[in-house]
Amino acid sequence: MSVPKLKGLVAIVNGASRGIGAAIAKGYALEGAKVVVAARTEEPHPRLPGTIHSVKAEINEAGGEATALKCDISVEEEVQRLVDQTLSEYGKIDVVVNNAAVMITGRPVVDTEARHFLLGLRVNLLGPFLLSKYALPGMMERRSGSIINIGSGAALSRNPGGSNYASTKAGLERFTIVLAEETREYNIAVNCLDPGPIKSEAAEMLQPADHNWASYSLPKAVAPSAIFLAVQDAKSFTGQIVHRVEFRRSWP
Ligand code: NAP
Repeated sequence: MSVPKLKGLVAIVNGASRGIGAAIAKGYALEGAKVVVAARTEEPHPRLPGTIHSVKAEINEAGGEATALKCDISVEEEVQRLVDQTLSEYGKIDVVVNNAAVMITGRPVVDTEARHFLLGLRVNLLGPFLLSKYALPGMMERRSGSIINIGSGAALSRNPGGSNYASTKAGLERFTIVLAEETREYNIAVNCLDPGPIKSEAAEMLQPADHNWASYSLPKAVAPSAIFLAVQDAKSFTGQIVHRVEFRRSWP
């Protein structure tokens, strides 16, 4: 039997109640990490499957260790509490996956309300900033840690109606690059992973019934590249924008 790659590590995965975040949380737990499953949903939603408790239960049933913590990633006090609760439960944070996002698309700028534009900024950009800000002091003290920001090919998109999502993901890439430089001397890795087309619950809801899913993968396809990034440091791999579909081809 192979040695678990993340044994002894503590990982917070935000946006882990379903989709890609849930798959990364389960993949990390299978590799021996203690996983904090963070998101807002505690009760099953009529149209969206998955809660933080159901993902924790699945991890436990598979023999892994997890804690479910409710957190709206766009609210500073809730992110502070998430970090404090993780530290009091597990004593440290080794890995942060900034996965939660909202996809506000389909309307040109002139028809987009400012409050909708701000929501995208708050979840997709302020959220990663807040969790990084509060998780980093412990990592810097221990001179180790890895932050993985989940990006998107939309960062380069020119699609009309996609200005909000595209600009938050482009911003997240630049945030990654700057934060990697700020934390290099503390040996912390900060990278951005584009999962590529994934048939998650959100993707299914956004696409029409006759959408062609041929080029899409299941959420669990993201786990191997996210596991690789979790064990990096500033000496081995940092400040990179990488694509899941290119893992083990053009990178590392
Ligand atoms: P998803 O199925 O909609 O899952 C999004 C997750 O984010 C949910 O767990 C949701 O949980 C959480 N979330 C949303 N708002 C939140 C908030 N304010 N606070 C905390 N958690 C929040 O989406 P997905 O397709 O898995 O996407 C995951 C990531 O991959 C996103 O960053 C997305 O941009 C990126 N991505 C996806 C694709 C794709 O094809 N699916 C392609 C490229 C990039 P709650 O509702 O329980 O809070």
